[in-house]
Amino acid sequence: MDELLDEQVCPYCEHVVEDHQSNWEDEEEEITCDRCDKEYTVKAVYQFKGFQIEKQCEQCGEWTDDGMALCDCEDKD
Ligand SMILES: [Zn+2]
Ligand SMILES: [Zn+2]
Repeated sequence: MDELLDEQVCPYCEHVVEDHQSNWEDEEEEITCDRCDKEYTVKAVYQFKGFQIEKQCEQCGEWTDDGMALCDCEDKD
């Protein structure tokens, strides 16, 4: 199955598993469907989007993810 779904759905009976019971791990888990009692495997597929990096201001200690921009505190005085 190449198609990714935004919900965990049983491939046999199309029973939708609620979010809090879904497998959000990127490792396959064997599931027995609550409704039809058949087994299937599910894993979450995540796409790498990049790194988010935060740095701590040397002046005020504030953390910012604002890339190379200077912290606000440097404008204040
Ligand atoms: Zn089912
Ligand atoms: Zn600062």
